[in-house]
Amino acid sequence: MKLTIMPVEDLPLIHAGDNLPALIAERCALKDGDIVTIASSVYSKAKGHTRKLTDITPTPRAERISKMTGEDPRFLQSILDVSVDVLIEFPFILSEVAGGHIGVRAGVDQSNIDDDMVILLPPDPIKAAEEVRNALKKITGKSVGVIITDTCGRAFRRGQTGNAIGWSGIPAIRDFRGDKDLFGHVLKITEEAVVDEIAGIANFVMGESNNGVPAVVVRGCEPWTGHDNLFFNKKEDFIRRALCVRAKPKKKG
Ligand code: GDP
Ligand code: MN
Ligand code: MN
Repeated sequence: MKLTIMPVEDLPLIHAGDNLPALIAERCALKDGDIVTIASSVYSKAKGHTRKLTDITPTPRAERISKMTGEDPRFLQSILDVSVDVLIEFPFILSEVAGGHIGVRAGVDQSNIDDDMVILLPPDPIKAAEEVRNALKKITGKSVGVIITDTCGRAFRRGQTGNAIGWSGIPAIRDFRGDKDLFGHVLKITEEAVVDEIAGIANFVMGESNNGVPAVVVRGCEPWTGHDNLFFNKKEDFIRRALCVRAKPKKKG
C-alpha cells in the first residue's frame, strides 16, 4: 500500500456556523476512496460545541477536585458535565464520554480557542463523521471516508497520539482473526484499529499548537473489512475493571 498524506491548506480560523465540509472541499480535489480526517476541535468550533467558563457554576465535586489538581473548577465542571462515567479524578480526570470514548479530561480543550472558552468533543462523533461524509458527497460527488480525530494521551507510554473519535464510511477495525500468517498459523486475536492508525499519522501532519492544519486527506488506503466495535464494553475492559477495584476501598468484615 502506498499512501499519500496531504494537509488541507489555508483553512481560516473556524467559528460557530462555518460550513466545514464546504471549506475543506474548496481547498482540495477529493477522489473516491480518500479518507478525510478532521480535528475534533474544529468540528466542535464549527458546530458551537464550546462553552464560556464565565457561564459555568462549579458543583462541590468540581471544587473538591480543583483543590487536588489546582485546575479551574469551572473547567473541571465542563469536563464533569460531559462525562458519563468518571474513572479517576486525580491527578487528572479520566472519564468516559457519550459514545464510549475514554479520555483524559474528557477531551475538553482550552487551546486553539479564545481565552475563557473551552472546546468540547462532538457529543455524537459517529453522527458528526456521517454528516461530514454526506456533505462532502453532496458537494463533490465523491465517496470518501471521514475520521474525526483528537490528540489523546494513553496509558503506559509518555506522549500523545491522534485517535479516532468518530468515523464513517470505513470499518473502525480490520479483523485479521481467521487469517493465516506466513507459517500457516491461524490468527486468533489480531484486530487492527485502523482508524486510530490513520488518525495517528493525520495528527502528525496536523501538528498541535499553531500549525493551522485541522484537516488532512489520506489517499491510497486499500479497503479493509472488519467491524466497528472499537470501544470495549465494561465487561471486556480488564484494565478499567482493575482501575475501579483499586479506586473502591474494600469493605471491612
Ligand atoms: P485537537 O487535536 O482536535 O484537539 O485539535 P488541536 O487543537 O490540536 O488542533 C489541530 C490542528 O488544527 C493544529 O494544527 C491547529 O493549529 C489547527 N487548528 C485548530 N483550530 C483551528 C482553526 O480554527 N483554524 C485552522 N486553520 N486551524 C486550526
Ligand atoms: Mn483535543
Ligand atoms: Mn491535537
